[in-house]
Amino acid sequence: MWVEAGSGTPGPLQRRVLLDELDATWVSHLHADHGAELLTAYYGARYADIRLDAPIPLHGPPGTADRPAAFLSNTPERSPIESAFTVTELTEGHRVATGQLTLISRMVAHGIPAFALRVEAGGGRSSTPGTPRPAPP
Ligand SMILES: [Zn+2]
Repeated sequence: MWVEAGSGTPGPLQRRVLLDELDATWVSHLHADHGAELLTAYYGARYADIRLDAPIPLHGPPGTADRPAAFLSNTPERSPIESAFTVTELTEGHRVATGQLTLISRMVAHGIPAFALRVEAGGGRSSTPGTPRPAPP
C-alpha cells in the first residue's frame, strides 16, 4: 500500500515493493505534496521495466484522475493516468479491504476535499498514528 504520493516517496517505496507489486495507492487530498509523484509512478508503470497485470487501484478525492491529466495531456480525452491506475474517488466512510488491512476514509476540513485515513488490521485494531495508548495497568 502506497499512502500519499508526495515528493520523494517513490524511492523509499521501491526499496520495499515495486509498482507492479502494489495492492493499492491512497491519496488523502490533491495538494501537490500528497500527489505529485503520481506522475512519476505513471511513467514508471508505463515505461519502466515492469509489466502491470492490471492498473494499480488508486483511491483519492474527487478529481484524482483529472488533476494529473493537466500535466500529461492537453486534449479533452479522459485522463491518461487511468492507463496505469484504476481510480476510485473517496467518499465519507469509503472502505478498502486489501490483504489483512481495511482502509477507511473520514472527510476532514482542509480547504479542499480531504480524507483522513484509518487503517484496521485483523480484529478491527487501528494503527492510526497519534492515537494514545492506554497506560499499562
Ligand atoms: Zn494539504
